[in-house]
Amino acid sequence: MGQCSCHPEIETQYICMKYNTYLCEECLTCRDPELYCKYRPSCLIWFMTKRQKRREQERK
Ligand SMILES: [Zn+2]
Repeated sequence: MGQCSCHPEIETQYICMKYNTYLCEECLTCRDPELYCKYRPSCLIWFMTKRQKRREQERK
């Protein structure tokens, strides 16, 4: 567990391995979706980003 880089008061389990920063559920989006990231296959943040995008598309 660590503190969100945008919200120091929030503890979170989501970590960006590339930048070594924690992101809370509110901030849960990949910072550089266009860039290659070797941690992506095991990145929870990326997983949630993708899931959210899919949900947005279904809504349309
Ligand atoms: Zn946050």
